[in-house]
Amino acid sequence: MHTAEAIDIAEQFRQTYGQSPAIIARAPGRVEFIGNHTDYNGGAVLGVAINRFVWVATAPNSAGRLRFASDQATHMVDLPGDPGTRFTGPEVWANYPLGVWRSFLDFNLPQPAGFDLLVTSDLPAGAGLSSSAALELATALAVHGLSNAAAIEPGQLAALGRHAENKYVGVPCGILDQGTCAFGRAGHLVHIDCRGPAFSRVPFPSSAHLWIFHTREKHALIDGLYAERHRECEEAAVSLGVRLLADLTPAQLLVAEGKLSSTHARRARHVVAEQARVQEAVAALQQDNLAAVGRLLTASHRSSQNFFENSTAALDRLVDLLESHPAVFGARLTGGGFGGAVLALTRDSFTAGDAAEIGRLQAEHQHRLPEVIHLHSADCAQVIWRG
Ligand code: ADP
Ligand code: MG
Repeated sequence: MHTAEAIDIAEQFRQTYGQSPAIIARAPGRVEFIGNHTDYNGGAVLGVAINRFVWVATAPNSAGRLRFASDQATHMVDLPGDPGTRFTGPEVWANYPLGVWRSFLDFNLPQPAGFDLLVTSDLPAGAGLSSSAALELATALAVHGLSNAAAIEPGQLAALGRHAENKYVGVPCGILDQGTCAFGRAGHLVHIDCRGPAFSRVPFPSSAHLWIFHTREKHALIDGLYAERHRECEEAAVSLGVRLLADLTPAQLLVAEGKLSSTHARRARHVVAEQARVQEAVAALQQDNLAAVGRLLTASHRSSQNFFENSTAALDRLVDLLESHPAVFGARLTGGGFGGAVLALTRDSFTAGDAAEIGRLQAEHQHRLPEVIHLHSADCAQVIWRG
C-alpha cells in the first residue's frame, strides 16, 4: 500500500522525467534538544527527528546521465557523469545529491551509473532544522535502493551523509544532524555520544510538544565565531591537561578552574555543565519528569547566554517570554547560536494562539515576527515506495 504522500511525489516525478520512480525515500529534519556545543568537545547531545521531511524519488535512466531536480530549484541539473568539481551559484544545492553519490565509492557501495532524481520537501531550508542532512540521507537511501545491494545500516547511513557534507559540500558539520536523521523514532529522542559515535534512543512522551521560534536573524560573523569558540575550548582543554573538555566533571573543573583565563573558564564551565545536563535530561526523561527536563532546557540557555556567549538579545527575550508562560516547561536556543531559533517544550494546553501572542510580544522589541513551527517527534530516514 502506498501512502498519499508517495503517490503525490510519484506523480511529480512522472511530470518531471516522463517515467515512474523506482524508489522514494523520506528523511526527517531534526532539532537539537539539549547539548549545546558539546559535540566537538567529546560530549553527548540529544536530538529529535521531527515531522517535517525531505523526499527523494529516483529511477535509473538508460542514458547514463545524472539528473537532479528539486521543487526548490528553478531548473534541472543534467550531467553526463561526475563533473569533478563543486557547483557554485544557483546549482549549489546539487552538491548534496552529487556528494552522496560520490561518497558511495568512498564507502565501497555500488554506485549507479545514471539516474533521475527529484527532491520535494516541507522542511524549511537554512532554518537550523537540518534540511541538508535530510536531503543527504533521503538521497542515499533512494539511490542505494537502485542497486540490488544489502540495505545500509543506520550508523553507516549517518556516516555517509556526514562524509558527503564534510568532503563534497565543504561544511564541517558534526554527527548530530545525520545521526538524529538516521536513528530517530516517533516518541523518542536520539542520544548521541559523539566520541564513538554511539547512538541510543530515549523515550519522549507523546504528550510533550515542541515549538520552534525562529528569529530569522543570523550573525554576519557566524563562521568566525564558531571557529573562535572551538579554538577557545581546545585551548581550555590544553590548559587543564585533558584531551577534551567533556573528560571533566563539574567538580573536577571547579578545582582546576584557576588555571584558566576568565574567558576560557566561562567556555569550559558551559561545556562541562552542559554535558552533565544532557545526562540529567536522560534520567529525567526516563522518569517521565518533563518539569525537570524543562528546567534543564532553560538552564542550558542561561549557560549559553552567560558563559558560552553564543546567544543574542532576541533569543534571550524569547526565552524570557516563554519561561514565564505557565504551559511552557522550558526553552533554549537550539543549534550553533549567534541567531537562529529557540526551542520550547510545552504542555498540551499551549496553543497556536499562545505561540502567536509570544511572537507578537517579541516583535515589539525585534520589529520582526518570529517564524513559529509546531513539531512532534518522527521516524528516521526510510524507503517509503518501491515501484
Ligand atoms: P539546514 O540544514 O539547517 O536546513 P544548511 O545550510 O545546512 O541548512 O542546508 C540548506 C541547504 O540544503 C540549502 O541551501 C540547499 O542547498 C539544500 N537543500 C535543502 N533542502 C532542499 C530541497 N528541498 N531542494 C534542494 N536543496 C535543498
Ligand atoms: Mg545543515
